[in-house]
Amino acid sequence: MILIYFDNAATTSVDQDILNTYVEFVKTCFANAASNHLLGYKSYEYEKQARQIIANLFKKKEEEIIFTSGASEANNLAIKGTCFQYKNRGKHIITSTIEHASVLEAFKQLEKEFNFEVTYLKPNKNGIIEKDQIEKAIRNDTIFVSIMMVNNEIGSINDIDTIGEMLKKYPKIIFHSDITQAIGKIKVDLKNVDLASLSLHKIHGFKGSGILVKSEKINLMSQISGGGQEFNFRSGTNNVPYEVSAAKTLRIALKNQEENYQKCLKLKNYLVDELKNIQGVHINSPINGSPFIVNFSIDKKASVVTEALSKKEIYVSTKSACSSKKSSISYVLKEIGLDDKISSNAIRVSFSDNNTLDEVKIFLVELKKILESI
Ligand code: PMP
Repeated sequence: MILIYFDNAATTSVDQDILNTYVEFVKTCFANAASNHLLGYKSYEYEKQARQIIANLFKKKEEEIIFTSGASEANNLAIKGTCFQYKNRGKHIITSTIEHASVLEAFKQLEKEFNFEVTYLKPNKNGIIEKDQIEKAIRNDTIFVSIMMVNNEIGSINDIDTIGEMLKKYPKIIFHSDITQAIGKIKVDLKNVDLASLSLHKIHGFKGSGILVKSEKINLMSQISGGGQEFNFRSGTNNVPYEVSAAKTLRIALKNQEENYQKCLKLKNYLVDELKNIQGVHINSPINGSPFIVNFSIDKKASVVTEALSKKEIYVSTKSACSSKKSSISYVLKEIGLDDKISSNAIRVSFSDNNTLDEVKIFLVELKKILESI
């Protein structure tokens, strides 16, 4: 039996080349990048190079790249860091109801504990937040908008370039986007985005490794105080081997982005066409969404089906890994207007460039067998 891993939106396997780079640097580049000796200077130089590579990939400056422990931390730093820094300009902030938990919970905390007023925008049935909808919600005291690029459960894609363009009319408003499920998979342009969060473990890099891209015009109240690393925005001894690996991960992912996109689009189209022929299946992902995510519901208990699949070493998820242990109902599916039954019985298949059409075919055979046997 071969192992089929279709849970790449939760995390991906580490690329061997990236692992080799890490091992090499963790052995040789162990000195503290802030130390005043030759070994420390060497670490600092590698860190600087890594930051430069990443800055160039985003057409940003070195000072605009902040290393974090992942997208959850980058989201929290962007959201709380901005809102605390600029709270005297206004206390109204805007997001959508289908953001990742690390965005939604940060907004809820600001609302409940720090007296911010939040407008939670509801997406349309395709999981999209329109720019006009955001504009209508803007008030005189609005200081911050956070809208994700690709939704992690259904793969809907927001046009963050157009949203950012519109928000330029409101100079007081800072625009943040969680691009975790987009980077290296879909073309991302950050020219109209002030802050963007991402994680390396979704593109064959390491868990616990992330980046906040921050426009130099913006100041943030740091959430981790200490030695002043990361331009004072995020203290803590820099993990240089991780930073070098992050640069390599992004370089590889962006170089192969178009090819991987086309490859996964073929897998998605085949899977969706076949799923449509199975009785009781409802496709939840929008047609023009990310090719890397296919979300569908079945008229049987989804957790029973995913468990049966996993016994055959086929790994999919019922929804996003960050909320799958909480309740069986998906808030994302509810928010796009699906009923409780569909929202409670969803399966998310998420691809990476490592997947093949043969794997999709085996998955379909096994899925049909399981559905017939229940
Ligand atoms: N945002 C989105 C859209 C995600 O899919 C994830 C990963 N589940 C995160 C944020 C959190 O990333 P990390 O695991 O690096 O904290």
